[in-house]
Amino acid sequence: MLKVYNTLSRKKESFRPRKDKKINLFVCGPTVYDFSHLGHARTYIVFDVIVKYLREKGYDVFYLQNVTDIDDKIINRAKEKKVAPQKLASDFQKEYIKDMKTLKVDAVSKYAKATKHIKEIISQVERLLKKHYAYQTEDGIYYNISKFKRYGKLSRRTALQAEDAVSRIDEAKEKKNRGDFCLWKFSKPEEPSWPSPFGRGRPGWHIEDTAITEKHFGSRYDIHGGAKDLIFPHHEAEIAQMEAISGKKPLVKYWFHSGFLTVKGQKMAKSLGNFITIRDFLKENPVRLLRLLIIKTHYRSAIDYNERLLSQTKKELEKIDEFIYKLKNQKSTAQLSVRDPKLIKSLISRTKKEFARAMQDDFNTPEAFAAILNMVSEGNYLIAQNKVRPKDARLILKELKEIDKVFSFIFWGKPKEEIPSSVMNFVRLREKCRKEGDWQKADDLRKKIKKLGYWVEDTKEGSKIKKI
Ligand SMILES: [Zn+2]
Repeated sequence: MLKVYNTLSRKKESFRPRKDKKINLFVCGPTVYDFSHLGHARTYIVFDVIVKYLREKGYDVFYLQNVTDIDDKIINRAKEKKVAPQKLASDFQKEYIKDMKTLKVDAVSKYAKATKHIKEIISQVERLLKKHYAYQTEDGIYYNISKFKRYGKLSRRTALQAEDAVSRIDEAKEKKNRGDFCLWKFSKPEEPSWPSPFGRGRPGWHIEDTAITEKHFGSRYDIHGGAKDLIFPHHEAEIAQMEAISGKKPLVKYWFHSGFLTVKGQKMAKSLGNFITIRDFLKENPVRLLRLLIIKTHYRSAIDYNERLLSQTKKELEKIDEFIYKLKNQKSTAQLSVRDPKLIKSLISRTKKEFARAMQDDFNTPEAFAAILNMVSEGNYLIAQNKVRPKDARLILKELKEIDKVFSFIFWGKPKEEIPSSVMNFVRLREKCRKEGDWQKADDLRKKIKKLGYWVEDTKEGSKIKKI
């Protein structure tokens, strides 16, 4: 039985979706005004792994993620850069999708843009006004948190404590409670805006999520995920909005929150100069390293990104790669006694069991990873003892491939094919001939290279070699 930690109850609970094997899952997406950083990579790799695991277990998961493409941050950044906010948002949304593709974060079923759900957002604001959970001020429509008795049940704060919170709180003079948040903001003339029964404006941040989830899932669904810092006020606000509108509870059965990523012990911030974008990371490191780095920490724990973690993870990855290389090149000279084939079978079944046990316990990926490393060590020992036949090696590889359906860091496409040095020598020689204008000899060399099974193409950047 799968156990999951639910932020709502602060306990590990047995996992039972609302309807048999069907899971509706929503994760807060990015506000697209800049390149994504390692913190984003962490959140989205975590939920990618969780969803891939659930699917492997036979659940039919619909993974919905919003994209905040209208927001104060977008408007302000667009002003700085002197571009239209819509253009800035759509450009950075493309960059975000590109980054996710690179990271093999491909479990999302649907990306939903806020600006494509304005009608649904307005309908939610209207219903909140009608039920007197919302009120109008000079600059917008606000949610009155003192009207919602369960306010604070997720973050375990009272409405009063909520007033002390400073994170992304909407400042406005006419609010009834300091913690009241904006549902609809009247726009200044130069800002993007949409017509509504209450006046031209744009949605608040929290309302887009419930408008999107109500449209796709209805008023209640199975799992809501996001980074820890979204618990308050963002997720608290979502509960207040949707449960007030529908009169049904709970909005979400299981809340999953991923931990922070710090850099050398500090929060990542532009002002500290320790802001690492996914692209910066990938300039110096392979993508699989980033996935492993995140997978080997439990999703609820903090990750501190530092040199030691990086070099240790590199070593682990090399160890796995070496093992796979050995498995793929096992020769059929293994010396087996009668009981030896059982060693491999039992190694594989133990690994399977340990992996499953770890993942069933609130997606304990570090323990699942330990099971992989254990298989590598024991496998290496058996190889050294000459106990692994090619067909045993294939069984182990098959198991690693099974695991990688969830983790996606072990096998990473086909490695670039090495071009034999004999071919490369001819290629270099030919380039020299071309520079010296010895076209006849260059042509002869091309034929020689062709005989070896390669084709040379002359481009502005130099020779390109392709296998024929
Ligand atoms: Zn959100």
